[in-house]
Amino acid sequence: MEFSSDPSHRLIESTAAEIAAEYGPAYWREKEEQGEFAQEYWDALADADFHGLLIPEEYGGAEMGMQEMGLAMETLCAEGCGMAGTWYLVLTAGMAAVGITKHGTPEQKERFLPDIAAGDRNFSIGITEAKAGTNTLNVGTRAEQDGDEYILNGEKAWITFSDRADNMIVVTRTTPKDEVEKGTQGISLFIVDMDDPNIEVSPIPKHAMNYSQSCEVFFEDVRVPAENLLGERDEGWWALVDTLNPERIGFAAAGTGIGKLAANTAIEYANEREVFGTPIGTHQAVSFPLTKAYARMETAALMRQKAEWLYDQGEPCGYETNVAKATAVEAGIEAVKQSMQAFGGWGYAKEYDVERWWREINLTRLAPVTQQMAYNHIGQQIGFPKSY
Ligand SMILES: Cc1cc2nc3c(=O)[nH]c(=O)nc-3n(C[C@H](O)[C@H](O)[C@H](O)COP(=O)(O)OP(=O)(O)OC[C@H]3O[C@@H](n4cnc5c(N)ncnc54)[C@H](O)[C@@H]3O)c2cc1C
Repeated sequence: MEFSSDPSHRLIESTAAEIAAEYGPAYWREKEEQGEFAQEYWDALADADFHGLLIPEEYGGAEMGMQEMGLAMETLCAEGCGMAGTWYLVLTAGMAAVGITKHGTPEQKERFLPDIAAGDRNFSIGITEAKAGTNTLNVGTRAEQDGDEYILNGEKAWITFSDRADNMIVVTRTTPKDEVEKGTQGISLFIVDMDDPNIEVSPIPKHAMNYSQSCEVFFEDVRVPAENLLGERDEGWWALVDTLNPERIGFAAAGTGIGKLAANTAIEYANEREVFGTPIGTHQAVSFPLTKAYARMETAALMRQKAEWLYDQGEPCGYETNVAKATAVEAGIEAVKQSMQAFGGWGYAKEYDVERWWREINLTRLAPVTQQMAYNHIGQQIGFPKSY
């Protein structure tokens, strides 16, 4: 790993900071209140080539790696965008771009990657189902082959951007779980066009980030051309796993990014706000909890950089990715909590944004993998028996 100043990294950092300066806290406060998709911000990410960071040059991308994507996400989050720094990149520019680059056919790459890189195509990722929950191997969405088509039936839950996405990568079963030797077999991924009239989408009213919708999605006899199968039939689990590490890295970047945004805002406030004749930041009861959280965020970010580096080398990185995600989220949550404390009652007011960052960062402990499941994976890696 290299810690000297890489000019391309400094450029990504300064570009992300410029975007975040334009689309800062006041912009997101308004977008959230109005429940509006942030199209101008999405377009700004396209102008900066951020949607194509992970896409090969021959398909219009910048052909960079997770180190650059993680840096862009963390900087966007920390410099003013909050969760939107990761949220508007992780599904399309992260998961879909990686899945298609690594497992797509030449025709799929030609059809989807240039549009993703240009910011002209928005993907959602359909993994979660209400009944299966965290146990993805229990997905009940079925894909039955009928000639050169597959017919999809089933329901997904919480699928972000599915109300407006052009496509969804849908996790299905082509062979039922009770007919395969291992639960990881029999899973297949499909790239589905979302304008199909047999797909119904119903937004779930939610706690935060109402500048996006996360929805229940119903598939009823949805016919998908066989050429839209992503990766091998029945072997989709392994293609899916390839996209999950980038997603967890994205959420690790969000954890420290939102945490730093809240902490930096609170530190500025703590330098100005006087109650007993000195700035509240002079009281160690205010400064130490934030300083400790900051130190923990710095170490978690280092672990994320290790995970990114391993990912970019094509090395196994599941352990490092889960450690980075779990620790970044804990440190970030502590930072936002202590920032709210530093603001006193004003931490509860919408105008100071810290209450919104609190709502936003809560997602990172629930998704894309819950903290408990991340610790389950880490526990197994360090020698504990599998508990589920
Ligand atoms: C705003 C939002 C956006 C989302 N966007 C998407 C999306 O775009 N695409 C998508 O596919 N999904 C999405 N999700 C879904 C998200 O990934 C899941 O909610 C998450 O994986 C948890 O699944 P669950 O809610 O069914 O929890 P459950 O599986 O019901 O778990 C409930 C609780 O039990 C715990 N638990 C369960 N099993 C174990 C075990 N073995 N050991 C320890 N603890 C356990 C869990 O950690 C959790 O705390 C989104 C969720 C939210 C809230």
